[in-house]
Amino acid sequence: MARFIFITGGVVSSLGKGLASAALGSLLQARGFTVRLRKLDPYLNVDPGTMSPFEHGEVFVTDDGAETDLDLGHYERFTGVAARKTDSVSSGRIYQNVLDKERRGDYLGKTIQVIPHVTNEIKDFIKIGEDEVDFMLCEIGGTVGDIEGLPFFEAIRQFAQDKPRGQCLFMHLTLLPYLAASGELKTKPTQHSVKELRSIGLQPDILVCRSEQPIPEKERAKIALFCNVRPDAVIPAYDLKSIYEAPLAYHAQGLDQAVLDAFQISPAPRPDLSRWEDVYDRIHTTDGEVNIAIVGKYTQLEDAYKSIKEALIHGGMANRIKVNVQWVDSEVFDHEDAAPHLEGFHAILVPGGFGERGTEGKIKAAQFARERNIPYLGICLGMQMAVIEAARNLAGMAKAGSEEFDHESGEKRFEPVVYHLKEWIQGSHAVQRKVDDDKGGTMRLGAYSATLAEGSRVAQIYGSTQIEERHRHRYEVDTKYRKALEAKGLCFSGMSPDGRLPEIVEIKDHPWFFGVQFHPELKSKPFEPHPLFADFVRAARDVSRLV
Ligand code: GLN
Repeated sequence: MARFIFITGGVVSSLGKGLASAALGSLLQARGFTVRLRKLDPYLNVDPGTMSPFEHGEVFVTDDGAETDLDLGHYERFTGVAARKTDSVSSGRIYQNVLDKERRGDYLGKTIQVIPHVTNEIKDFIKIGEDEVDFMLCEIGGTVGDIEGLPFFEAIRQFAQDKPRGQCLFMHLTLLPYLAASGELKTKPTQHSVKELRSIGLQPDILVCRSEQPIPEKERAKIALFCNVRPDAVIPAYDLKSIYEAPLAYHAQGLDQAVLDAFQISPAPRPDLSRWEDVYDRIHTTDGEVNIAIVGKYTQLEDAYKSIKEALIHGGMANRIKVNVQWVDSEVFDHEDAAPHLEGFHAILVPGGFGERGTEGKIKAAQFARERNIPYLGICLGMQMAVIEAARNLAGMAKAGSEEFDHESGEKRFEPVVYHLKEWIQGSHAVQRKVDDDKGGTMRLGAYSATLAEGSRVAQIYGSTQIEERHRHRYEVDTKYRKALEAKGLCFSGMSPDGRLPEIVEIKDHPWFFGVQFHPELKSKPFEPHPLFADFVRAARDVSRLV
């Protein structure tokens, strides 16, 4: 049966709870244990699928088709364990389940209350698959003191009581602010945060303290004393050059040892950190750098394309190249020449997106890359834009566009080279959708296989003709136009196994031009860079060496 580690945060948000959880997961793996990571989010949305990227950053899609919090991306990137639907839950989902049960009469007419009905629902969620792993790490979103978070804190308190003594551990992340005027690190906010936790019945076993300045031994001892934790369970967390240094940094500060001590696991298995030492070496020993433009709509908010940025960094690691990512807002050149905005980049990536705003600029970015022989990677919407560009400028279909934009404006303005898919095959059954279905969870979501053309460049890059990648979209490139486009050099080199849905397009006589209907970035890891990203960065490096 699993041991449970609950990770909470205090003082301020954005302390890197997700990263600390992910790094701890990877360290437990390095000690030979199996792990699973979960995120429990107190917000009321049923899932992040319908939230704007400005609100929530990227939506991370799992193999089994859940739209989840971007922290699950961290978990996967650090542990390589594929997240599942059952690894992410929000208050909204918990309440929805409780209310569904109430409507069905499952509670036999009882009054439904936060305690025990909501807390039981949370506890049942935490337990799912508890026999499958050695450690289950559950991160609670938000910070202690948030009203929405209370049922979750109460549920984990009860959970630890329900389990045999010593099977659950509480880890709390806090901040030690530095006051430049007095030259001091302040521990009071941490003390208050722990006091708040204790007032709801939770005593942390481990404190992870974020700090910009070294934490003197004296302060560490003081925190331990006032917060009622052992001095060696006060773990400093300093800023790092790269998030991928976190496993080694946390190990050096004794985090994994503190966890094993708290669970009284002795003797502690020796850690094998070679994977993270190699990653460290690849970050710090590089030969050259490339400048890559991500041409999108949500460029003010880097979190909106979190996995893409990370996958590019992994591609850099594969080639020992430093990747400088620059965000370019495509809307700026919707109605003007794109060249001044794109010149000088060694590669261009157009990511996924929704809605018409900024798409003319993205189409121009695809054209610029195609005509100037600049490596181009179009992801999801970025593939659709590349196809529209080729249809307009190579195949002479001036009105080529996407049905998505016509649906949005309510007018029929475009020839729908990209159309709304209403029926498709998932595994062995057909899925159907209507145009006016709910917005939440009605897309082609999760892992689907694709068959790559024998001898195609993309098959070479993958080293296989059968792949499986994650999807999140409603619209598809129409195969009706395949012949016309292939005659002009845009090849459909990857298709769904039934041959109906284009998955990959490529231009043969171009240094590197690919569009993919799926999201390869979601499967990339620092210790296992995605082949498309590794080869994209390689192609960018080749361009950088020409100039
Ligand atoms: N808006 C497009 C669609 O729904 C692309 C989605 C995406 O890029 N994830 O098909």
